[in-house]
Amino acid sequence: MLMLIDAASLWYRAYYGLPSSIKAPDGRRAGAVRGFFDGLAVLARRFSPTGLVCCLEGNWRPQWRLDLLEQYKSARALPDGSEDAPEGLEAQVAAIEALLPALGVATAAHPRFEADDVIATLAARTAEPVLVVTGDRDLFQLVDDERDRKVVYLARGISKAELFDGAAVVAKFGVGPEHYVDFAVLRGDPSDGLAGVKGIGAKTAVTLVNTYGGVAGLRAAAADAESDLPERQKRAIGEAGDYLDRAVKVSTVVADVEVPVVDATLPAAPKDPEAVEALATEWGVASAIQRFHEAIAPKAT
Ligand code: MN
Ligand code: MN
Repeated sequence: MLMLIDAASLWYRAYYGLPSSIKAPDGRRAGAVRGFFDGLAVLARRFSPTGLVCCLEGNWRPQWRLDLLEQYKSARALPDGSEDAPEGLEAQVAAIEALLPALGVATAAHPRFEADDVIATLAARTAEPVLVVTGDRDLFQLVDDERDRKVVYLARGISKAELFDGAAVVAKFGVGPEHYVDFAVLRGDPSDGLAGVKGIGAKTAVTLVNTYGGVAGLRAAAADAESDLPERQKRAIGEAGDYLDRAVKVSTVVADVEVPVVDATLPAAPKDPEAVEALATEWGVASAIQRFHEAIAPKAT
């Protein structure tokens, strides 16, 4: 099984999940670095992947998505367009991004796409079962029972991560993975800047999606004088038409991003042991790195 990690999700959970008192020898906060590698170890032990790729946010808010939807992720953006990151995270992200290749863990990114798209692309390229580890709800759209694609959702922390197959997505949202995007754009998602449709909350969105088959079916029903869609909703859907079309494009992951072929093989030993040692010492995370190694080491049977 190929495990695709939404790396930014994992370091955010690590940052917020560990006490700020965890410090590097030089006094900088180090909880995200430690928690990231401990998190990888926990995930590797629980799911025993045979391949691992950490997918990075080459572009957290691509211009092409902004061109479609001006408000996209605007609540999380600083005036200069960069992401509003919490104190002390940036240096830790740099450390994680340096440690991964030194350890020999595959990474993938594209300068014009989000980790979401890179993950979708790597999943589309393989016939193997895929486990996507993320705290980003958008990626529920990748769940596919037939092709054995599941999501490990990090909402409540790394050790309490929940495994989602198609039935679990339906149980949580009321719609299947193939309609998660329809549901999200109808209901709205403030953290991504999706306004939603006036008068349509989560419950109505579920009913509409399941009755009319998503945004496309709903747009058709709204335009059809004969359809049984209530007049009030016909109007709301009609008025929101442009938003709906754009929001669906924004929220649908791109599965054919030009990222190089990656070798997802689990590293048997660090690729650059000296760099690993130097970084582990600098950040005071040698034991977390050790736990990671033990978790991915080929098990003697
Ligand atoms: Mn994302
Ligand atoms: Mn997303």
